[in-house]
Amino acid sequence: MHGSGQIVPGLERSLEGLVVGDERKVVVEPGDGYGEYQPDGLQEIPRDAFPREVNLEIGQQFEARSPKGETFPMIVKELRRESIVVDLNHPLAGRTLHFDVRVLSIRDATPAELSHGHAHGPHGGHEH
Ligand SMILES: [Zn+2]
Repeated sequence: MHGSGQIVPGLERSLEGLVVGDERKVVVEPGDGYGEYQPDGLQEIPRDAFPREVNLEIGQQFEARSPKGETFPMIVKELRRESIVVDLNHPLAGRTLHFDVRVLSIRDATPAELSHGHAHGPHGGHEH
């Protein structure tokens, strides 16, 4: 849903004014994409903060929940004896993004979409 912050800013900006049938190659620098890589996104968390039944592996992704209830992804970087090192950076932080865009159709957002702030499925279904 264009204009609602659902699309990375650099891509959203370059979609502005496109019409059906337009094709673009879009390159988005990290600052206009998922942000620069933040070294302090690496954090050490005690092992007992993780559910015991979870088998932790390097490269594994989790949804963590902040005390405020927001969820954010984190990736297991290192398994230590007493702790786990995780990376809170978005997996695409620090990356230059390349998009091949073709505009297939454009429509107005429905009232439900406007109130939710995101697009629903192609057949008007509520797919979330
Ligand atoms: Zn919705």
